[in-house]
Amino acid sequence: MAHEVVVVGSVNADLVVRVDRRPGPGETVLGSDLVTLPGGKGANQAVAAGRLGGRVGILARTGDDGNGALLREALLAAGVDVTHLLVADGPSGVALITVGPDGDNSIIVSPGANGRLTEQDVVAARELVAGAAVVSLQLEIPLVTVAAAARAAADAGARVVLNLSPAATVPSDLLALCDPLVVNEHEAAFLLPAADPSDDPATLATALLELGPRSVVITLGADGALVATRDGARTVPSPRVEPVDTTGAGDAFTAALCLRLARGDDLESAARFAVRVGAAAVLGEGAQSSYPAEGDELPS
Ligand code: ADP
Repeated sequence: MAHEVVVVGSVNADLVVRVDRRPGPGETVLGSDLVTLPGGKGANQAVAAGRLGGRVGILARTGDDGNGALLREALLAAGVDVTHLLVADGPSGVALITVGPDGDNSIIVSPGANGRLTEQDVVAARELVAGAAVVSLQLEIPLVTVAAAARAAADAGARVVLNLSPAATVPSDLLALCDPLVVNEHEAAFLLPAADPSDDPATLATALLELGPRSVVITLGADGALVATRDGARTVPSPRVEPVDTTGAGDAFTAALCLRLARGDDLESAARFAVRVGAAAVLGEGAQSSYPAEGDELPS
């Protein structure tokens, strides 16, 4: 059966060390034991949608190392179709994460094999992409690959969802395919030189719609999300929860949104579900490890 959601994106091993303070240039500090966790925006989204019971596939590339095996295992455990999880010689993508005493993260991403997911890979996986109800994209793989996947999806009648993260300038013909473009306030302001992240989200959304996407979702952390089409904007509040770790909440939100859109929800209804999944994802440590499974009670 065709997939509800196909993710074309990144897979990274998150290498996490807790520190009391970060070293300056030329300095060494001792940290905690290393914890290696499966991550990457593409993998996080695929795992989140898979755990929610979606029929999910991924087009991505790991390296031929132990981290690649860990990432494949995490996707398989969530029920994700890994037929198009490709393997390159060399290292998998990694995120080097230090967590400070206040829970603040500093992250360096080394793309590794993610940087070698190509337009040709999209062509080779066109049946996967064309068979999806929703194709979910982010920006941790080469932009030409993202653009090729969006075009292939749109040509086949699949719905394209782009999470503009990490923020980057994208061509207007790619933006025009997005339904919705998903951003947080900082990514919204990045696209709008005259805007500031603290601007009214409805104003940001109106300006973003003028750049061409068919719809826009701005995630607002504890305040939920704003959904906007040319017919107007609505705020969808998040359930009130005590956050433990917000890592990967945006990926869980986007995955849940994609799954409900694939099942025929309108954008606002899909967002009402997605904020509950996003809120559940902040209740536990880590990204994928805190994602709710189908049948779990969600915050409301
Ligand atoms: P990003 O991590 O991409 O900046 P956000 O912080 O906006 O994304 O979070 C994405 C979604 O996760 C929000 O729209 C919301 O549904 C949920 N979320 C994030 N932080 C909280 C929180 N403190 N309380 C409740 N829900 C949250």
